[in-house]
Amino acid sequence: MSVTAVSTGAGIALKVFGGLYLADAISGVFHWFEDRYGNPKWPVLGHTIRENQQHHHTPRSFLKGTLWTRNREVWAIGTVFLIIFYFVGWLNLFTGAAVIFGMFANEIHAAAHRSPKENGPVITALQKTGLMQSHKHHAAHHRKGKDSHYCVMTNHLNPALERLQVFQRLERLIKWSTGVVPRLDDSVNPRYRRAV
Ligand SMILES: [Zn+2]
Ligand SMILES: [Zn+2]
Repeated sequence: MSVTAVSTGAGIALKVFGGLYLADAISGVFHWFEDRYGNPKWPVLGHTIRENQQHHHTPRSFLKGTLWTRNREVWAIGTVFLIIFYFVGWLNLFTGAAVIFGMFANEIHAAAHRSPKENGPVITALQKTGLMQSHKHHAAHHRKGKDSHYCVMTNHLNPALERLQVFQRLERLIKWSTGVVPRLDDSVNPRYRRAV
């Protein structure tokens, strides 16, 4: 294989994996915002926030419905982004990969709530690489205060974000600048407290 072919292959891989990790980071920010500040009574987003809260009580409720009913909202949003990116000239391998991976964030999250038998060998193998989030990794979000491990797509970003306390720092910044304090999820024992 020529040097050019190797560098082209590496460039493609970098953009595709970069897109995956960007989508994972966005999934984490969105999930964090829903869990810590979201109100199920809000218009538009309220429905998604309510479903998310319900899945903290009964994680398997996330699996109900069909591929279409679980994903139609996020697929519609993703398609709008792809169209906008195309017309403003931002659509490339990196942004396209980020949007398309993001459109599967719900489904990747759902797979982390299924057993290996339900997922089948291909998804189970991908989960073992950490490129798809594993059940064991996602379980860390469902423990204690539902206030860590917000990224739902891979096993790779959460450890760094937790070590750097990214979301806790953001919460402190929001509290300092606006006075708004994050809420404790209603599935969490009220005695659980982590200082903000
Ligand atoms: Zn959550
Ligand atoms: Zn979950």
